[in-house]
Amino acid sequence: MEQEILRRLRALPAVHEVLSRLEDEIEFSPFMANEGWTPRVTLYVRQVLQSIREDINRNYANPFEEFEAALWPAIKKDLFKKLIKGETSLRRVINATGVVLHTNCGRALLAPEVARFISEQAERYSNLELNIQTGERGSRYVHVEELLCKLTGAEAAMVVNNNAAAVLLMMNTFAQGKEVIVSRGELVEVGGSFRIPEVLKAGGAKLVEVGATNKTWLKDYEAAISSETAMLLKVHTSNYRVEGFTHTVSGAELVKLGEDKGLPVMEDLGSGSFFDGANLGFPPEPTIKQTVKAGISLVTFSGDKLLGGPQAGIIVGKKSFVQQLRTNQLTRALRVDKLTLAALEGTLRLYDKGEFNEIPVWRMLSAPLDKLYEAAFELFTTLQPNQKIEVKLQEDVSQVGGGAWPTVELPTWVCTIRPRQGSVIELEKFLRLGSVAILSRIHKNWIVIDVRTFLKGDREEVVRRLAEWDQ
Ligand SMILES: *Cc1c(COP(=O)(O)O)cnc(C)c1O
Repeated sequence: MEQEILRRLRALPAVHEVLSRLEDEIEFSPFMANEGWTPRVTLYVRQVLQSIREDINRNYANPFEEFEAALWPAIKKDLFKKLIKGETSLRRVINATGVVLHTNCGRALLAPEVARFISEQAERYSNLELNIQTGERGSRYVHVEELLCKLTGAEAAMVVNNNAAAVLLMMNTFAQGKEVIVSRGELVEVGGSFRIPEVLKAGGAKLVEVGATNKTWLKDYEAAISSETAMLLKVHTSNYRVEGFTHTVSGAELVKLGEDKGLPVMEDLGSGSFFDGANLGFPPEPTIKQTVKAGISLVTFSGDKLLGGPQAGIIVGKKSFVQQLRTNQLTRALRVDKLTLAALEGTLRLYDKGEFNEIPVWRMLSAPLDKLYEAAFELFTTLQPNQKIEVKLQEDVSQVGGGAWPTVELPTWVCTIRPRQGSVIELEKFLRLGSVAILSRIHKNWIVIDVRTFLKGDREEVVRRLAEWDQ
């Protein structure tokens, strides 16, 4: 076997040999004649040869025995595709994991209507910073502020690059050189790169931890307050839950304490939601509106988690506090671009119209089980004629993702597959490395395909790719 692989690898032509042969190929003449193309053609030749090398190493039954009949046409075909289409680095991925807010796959999907709005804003001039009535300069944030206030009940709102930036800005504006009191049970790390203690430090604030991991009481906060205290901070624990013997202090209780001591209470709500998940049977969590109503001075949350919009950090709360954030120089550095604002305005308008189902995140999270069954059944029946794989139709659970409702298991239907020949690991890779990457997960030596996160055309693509499996 080793010998055979080596023999095939040796039979591959060198880059310069391919290039010189291409000189004689009519369909490549426009690229070969123009020197401007040379570096790109060379790069692509290298990539094509590399991927064939990998195929040989993986020992995919490889028909490249015959140079003229098989290998050369295959090289030409791949190369031509690359030259014509150009290959972007960002590519479409089919998310077959069932994780709705998959950070590696770009978190929230935007509604088609919102995507069209972005494209229109991108291709044309706009009133981004123009007051159309007066013809004078306006603020780029007015386009979303009013909507945010309406939807959250807050007095004022602003938007920065992401929620990490929002927390940083909040610390830098109100707590630089001062103390911020946080419960030990809320010192979270999100996605490996955002840690509350570190963000506080980066903002110039000094963290004062109170309570224990599982229990924090109001009196713990009270005892930690000093002349150096700038604020009481609440942080949503997002991606984990402490269960059992626990106690946390509610926002409303903290606000009461803050009022007595003349201190603001601010909250990093993490995902934050306009929509009450209790409607879908999720564990109760305060919505953004309820958090604002509890009297929290500033509330921050992400744009691309449960909100289902673009990456952004949204800050809502009391006018005087938002005003102070605006005058911080950092705000300019954390500014969001017009496409983000277009995506956010478009998404907020869907909420304003009550069209939750148009927002892909909520549509996927609330997909009825019978619809999921139908979709999985359809995939199951179309895959059955494929003799190269075994398929089963099964009940399973999907996850919300994005650090929201970490313990919620959404009942779903999946197809589990495995190859009759070859390994499950190889098949997973084969799915991932197709012209459209298909991201699945492996469970107990089966590949799990969860249809909850499928979009139009995904099923056909999965079936098509599996038909190419040739072991
Ligand atoms: C996700 C999260 C963040 C970071 O939000 P980004 O928008 O990704 O920057 C911060 N705090 C909490 C509690 C989170 O869950």
